Amino acid sequence: EAIVEVKGICKSYGNVEALRDINLDFPRGKLTSLLGPSGCGKTTLLKIIAGLIGASAGSVTVDGKRVSGPGPERAFVFQDFALMPWATVLRNVAFGLELRGTGKAERDEIARRYIAQVGLSGFEDKYPHELSGGMRQRVGLARALSVDAEVLLLDEPFSAVDEQNRRKFQEDLIRLRSAQNKTFIFVTHSIEEAVYISDRIVLLSPRPGRVSQVIEPDIDRS
Ligand code: ADP
Ligand code: ADP
Repeated sequence: EAIVEVKGICKSYGNVEALRDINLDFPRGKLTSLLGPSGCGKTTLLKIIAGLIGASAGSVTVDGKRVSGPGPERAFVFQDFALMPWATVLRNVAFGLELRGTGKAERDEIARRYIAQVGLSGFEDKYPHELSGGMRQRVGLARALSVDAEVLLLDEPFSAVDEQNRRKFQEDLIRLRSAQNKTFIFVTHSIEEAVYISDRIVLLSPRPGRVSQVIEPDIDRS
């Protein structure tokens, strides 16, 4: 069953055509990767699904409802994590809940829980500059998970993480996904990464971004 449906999406930036007539369904509870070379429109498509930018044509529906901007059922994890440098890990993670009007005691409690889930217990009072790239990435992931959105949209979240830690985060993501039964849409330009983590891969072709294929890797992770 599809939770997110994309119909007839087109997007141009001035005279640069980034996406042409994209039609896709994203199944609930699965991790779908958008895979393709740099510039093929992956980030553009993800941001349109997030409601962060508008499409030139077409529609996005989430749970059957048409959306035209950001909403609480979708959380976006930015490539650069978008952390507030002046705020602690706890405050950064709790920020998404703060925006949604959750009271301080409750949001701190929830934030601590997700900080623990991503393996950062003990770092609640540190500032982003005191953490490694991989740890900052986990703060961004904890913030996205803590708002309890059904759909998590991740834009190359491992690009700032070194090769050795990347596999560990990929495994964290696989584990978090099965523990939480959330829907993930994941942008990557790495075939290796897409095959390793995905239930489904959408292959976008460059110039202008079109869907060339939907692939379902048959991976036994047991
Ligand atoms: P990808 O994420 O696959 O690398 P993008 O979605 O970032 O692709 O970009 C798709 C195309 O749109 C590229 O040609 C890129 O240069 C162009 N593009 C993306 N964002 C903008 C923008 N804000 N203004 C102009 N062109 C853009
Ligand atoms: P990615 O690493 O996903 O390919 P980019 O590094 O291409 O993303 O783009 C980073 C940011 O710059 C994005 O917000 C994108 O919208 C913007 N951008 C990309 N290409 C252009 C462009 N040709 N002109 C203006 N902005 C762009």
